[in-house]
Amino acid sequence: MESIIKRKKTRQISIGNVKVGGDAVISVQSMTNTRTSDIEATVSQIKGLEDAGCEIIRVAVPDMDAAGAVKEIKSAVSIPVIADVHFDYRLAIAAVKSGADGLRINPGNIGGEKKVQEVVKCAKDFQIPIRVGVNAGSLEKSLLKKYGTATPEAMVESALGKVGLLRDLDFHDIKISIKASDVHRTLAAYRLLSEKTDLPLHVGVTEAGALFPGVVKSSLGIGMLLAEGIGDTIRVSLTRDPVEEVRVGFEILKALEIRKHGVEIISCPTCGRCGIDLFSIVEKVEKALMKRPVPIKIAIMGCVVNGPGEAMEADIGIAGGDGTGILFRKGEVVKKFPQEKLVEVLLAEVEEHDKEA
Ligand code: SF4
Repeated sequence: MESIIKRKKTRQISIGNVKVGGDAVISVQSMTNTRTSDIEATVSQIKGLEDAGCEIIRVAVPDMDAAGAVKEIKSAVSIPVIADVHFDYRLAIAAVKSGADGLRINPGNIGGEKKVQEVVKCAKDFQIPIRVGVNAGSLEKSLLKKYGTATPEAMVESALGKVGLLRDLDFHDIKISIKASDVHRTLAAYRLLSEKTDLPLHVGVTEAGALFPGVVKSSLGIGMLLAEGIGDTIRVSLTRDPVEEVRVGFEILKALEIRKHGVEIISCPTCGRCGIDLFSIVEKVEKALMKRPVPIKIAIMGCVVNGPGEAMEADIGIAGGDGTGILFRKGEVVKKFPQEKLVEVLLAEVEEHDKEA
């Protein structure tokens, strides 16, 4: 897809079979919220996320059971698994030995320089990358003292200091995240970081909140950065089923015309001319086509008079009113039928479209 966005060229790393940075597509990732040691529940959640299009998954590794579980989880899923470790370097090493495709650590809280060295040596031996993750809420005391608070400059200094530790050990398969829970600081921190490094960036607004505010914050934070060409992989963070995070991630990429993925529904807001129960029709179509990966633009419009014309760009569309349903392609009416069959006719047409694709 031709994009007007000029993306910053970063170094490329590989997380399992997914490339991040350079000219690789901007990938969508998420994190499980099951107990990682509950292998069945974790695998089941990852499979649901794979169906939604998730390309990289991160699991929390808070104990040795979780580190050990990575092995079985990996063998049951097909996307790369990143182990998220805090405080105990032994957990990081155990997770890598269990087959994790990547590590997410904060080198500042893993137990000192020697421990960082051991983790890095292990990652090198197993040829897996490390994400250095910095959060505004957990900056070093020395930086808080220097800057007064967790400013973007303090966050960038923290991140680059930790990256320096890894690079001093001749380790370069690194990506960085530098998240705050507010949009302004997230934007400022990533902009500054992007000026100072060519390492690939994992972009997100951390702890963005419940669905509604979380979607708005993430769309603004992630979306504005991507529009400026910053970001190589994204994670939308919501207090919600992680499947929703993946859906929102793809919606951001689709809205910016960075990637195509599955169905894009164009539906009108309805007005006094609306002749059908548009809300429930859109919901039904969305649900029926949620897992379908082939890109397609579908219009669902509230009246037969203005609907097709308003949705010229859609591949396929339906509209209804006064008992009649119509099917249109690229704004041209191709068929009329009883209004009750709107959803049925649309889904059959989508199937035909897929066969031809
Ligand atoms: S498509 Fe028809 S019902 Fe929907 S907003 Fe436009 S005029 Fe109103």
